[in-house]
Amino acid sequence: MVTVENTVNWLKNFADKIETNKAYLSDLDRAIGDGDHGNNMARGVQAMVEKLDDSEPTSVQAVLKTASMALLSKIGGASGPLYGTALLEMSKQAKEDQIEVKSLVEAGLAGIQKRGKAEVGEKTMVDLWAPVLDHLNKQTLSKEAIDEAVNATKDLKATKGRASYVGDRSIGAIDPGAASSGYLFEAMMEEGVL
Ligand code: ADP
Ligand code: MG
Ligand code: MG
Repeated sequence: MVTVENTVNWLKNFADKIETNKAYLSDLDRAIGDGDHGNNMARGVQAMVEKLDDSEPTSVQAVLKTASMALLSKIGGASGPLYGTALLEMSKQAKEDQIEVKSLVEAGLAGIQKRGKAEVGEKTMVDLWAPVLDHLNKQTLSKEAIDEAVNATKDLKATKGRASYVGDRSIGAIDPGAASSGYLFEAMMEEGVL
């Protein structure tokens, strides 16, 4: 069940994972982009945690909206508006009493695609969100499945975002935004938001 408490714990766990893996995420981005993804994300999640602590939102919708605003204004880069939109669309979806995680993820993915215009297979965070949604629909989501989806981005050639500038050279590298999104869903599983 999705509650205010586990949603806050989920986002804070995500923030911890980003902070812990900040250098790794920037290394991934250095290989095929401009090397700032870890720092971008860390700045965003830090602001997100501060906002959540300050405003103590009392509904799942308000938690997700608060998080989305912080991410939108602080991450920067391509991923800021994409994460911000994902969380904003999730918050819009989170208005009923009985909130379903798969509906939230579906709304988040739709937001990312509306904003970034990437399809599956273009080596972006979409290639993490889409398989996660499939697994949620089939009730087969696991940490292994998340890892597998992150690693599967290695085989793809980037045709959207900054990594598309390096063309074929992007093949063989993990997409940084898929890796950071992997932490989002690992954190979700760890906090029992399912
Ligand atoms: P920037 O590329 O502006 O420096 P970041 O490094 O923070 O921004 O984020 C890069 C990540 O953003 C990529 O690894 C990819 O996952 C994601 N991304 C970039 N463009 C798109 C897009 N059009 N749709 C979805 N995700 C995208
Ligand atoms: Mg970058
Ligand atoms: Mg950048």
